[in-house]
Amino acid sequence: MHPGDMSACEIAGAVARGDISAFECTQAALSRIDRLNGSINAFLHIDAEGAIASARSIDSRRARGESLGPLAGVPIAIKDVLCTRNVPTTCASKMLKDFRPPYDAFVVERLRTSDAVIVGKTNMDEFAMGGSNENSAFGPVRNPWDLSRAPGGSSGGSAACVAAGMSPIALGSDTGGSIRQPAGLCGITGLKPTYGRVSRRGLIAFASSLDQVGPMARSAADCALVLETIAGHDPGDSTSLKADVPPYSRLLEESLAGVRIGRVAAHFTEGLNPEVARAVDEAFAVFRAAGATIHDIEMPHARWGVPTYYLVAPCEASSNLARYDGVHFGHRTDTAQILASHAADRTQKNNIDSDQADSTLVEMYRKSRAEGFGSEVKRRIMLGTYALSAGYYDAYYLKALKVRRLIRQDYLNAFEKVDLIGGPVSATAAFPLGEKTGDPLSMYLVDLYTVTANLAGVGGISFPCGLSASGLPLGFQLQSPALAEPLLLRAADRFQRITDWHQRRPHLEGTLQQP
Ligand code: GLN
Repeated sequence: MHPGDMSACEIAGAVARGDISAFECTQAALSRIDRLNGSINAFLHIDAEGAIASARSIDSRRARGESLGPLAGVPIAIKDVLCTRNVPTTCASKMLKDFRPPYDAFVVERLRTSDAVIVGKTNMDEFAMGGSNENSAFGPVRNPWDLSRAPGGSSGGSAACVAAGMSPIALGSDTGGSIRQPAGLCGITGLKPTYGRVSRRGLIAFASSLDQVGPMARSAADCALVLETIAGHDPGDSTSLKADVPPYSRLLEESLAGVRIGRVAAHFTEGLNPEVARAVDEAFAVFRAAGATIHDIEMPHARWGVPTYYLVAPCEASSNLARYDGVHFGHRTDTAQILASHAADRTQKNNIDSDQADSTLVEMYRKSRAEGFGSEVKRRIMLGTYALSAGYYDAYYLKALKVRRLIRQDYLNAFEKVDLIGGPVSATAAFPLGEKTGDPLSMYLVDLYTVTANLAGVGGISFPCGLSASGLPLGFQLQSPALAEPLLLRAADRFQRITDWHQRRPHLEGTLQQP
């Protein structure tokens, strides 16, 4: 089999046995990236040199009889929100255009020690703010299933990369759905772990109480293999959980007999595309046939998820993004220009005062931020600053925290009755590029089914459950109580043993000539 069509589990096994070399697998990934990235724009940076060097080192260590890590030789793409030592890390923002971090994120360190081969950094919505990848400062990603459509976001580069077979696995980050939604729209599997399961050290912060790193792959079994590597306590992240890491990939066998899955009737009303509704209900039927029982449950506060998220996330973002001021971090405007214009002022007025020095500094901050950030990031900073300001804090931010608590309580109540909650991941299949860019609110509504898991800190996985009449992938989402990833992965894996939706591939050759 062509290494580009093998799963991460297959590659790791074949490299360990010596059936294939890490070099061959890496070459296969790099040549596919080379061929497809011009049309898809999934990668912001391709690290061919670094990838080949790690592959050669893995092969020579194997030749010397040394033991290899569990992901030996498996090509992986990393969302550009994660720091990679000496390798560009831009967050798809002009603000970080020239940033080369001096250290690796915790998850990147883990991948390197497990002998995965990092092939590059993937495109995304700027600072992970968006649901279509159109907010990247370096151009949108195109959905491999139809190049005129969005791949979803914000981890759209990672999703498109896996869907197009440019690497079998990728890392994404999920603050309000950014792993699960693009996975759903690109026909792959994406896991958002429980908050705190995976360290956030070296993940460039968007909304710190919601952000979580997770795997994206073609199958749940591959996600399990990656999660095993990246999960675990990190003293460098104060919110990282001190919980043992189960051997996820070895816990997939048990049947689903007796597993209780909740179905929320309210998910199936307003705005849910009938094709998605049908595919989701067929997925419930597959789970029933596999021995699970399906129960009606209610999540009375879920409808407030989007407004709550769009207060909490921008508030945290406005604080997190304050560091990009052209001094501490990020793009600095051309200060010579400011100084020259102030010098001209001074000669005119014939005096120097300290107010003028202050205004030079403020102008430098203002211009650096105005030039460095794109319009969606600015919108979030303004929303968050407004909601946190004196006089509005109680009415907006505190109120949102109270509703967040109620949403969390909905989950706790539901998980007394069921083990998992099933449903749609997105209301529609992939939408055309440009369709929602003029209307931020319609873009925010895309997050309807995903934000509540982040607000509650629980786990969620999405995986393909059908194809639309026009041949676009449709996704199913399962959510679990905190730290129930073994069950989440086992249920998704069982579904993939019974169905073959996850094996469907976009017909790339035909579509490559499109815009
Ligand atoms: N679409 C959501 C947003 O724009 C979620 C983003 C994310 O999970 N990073 O905020």
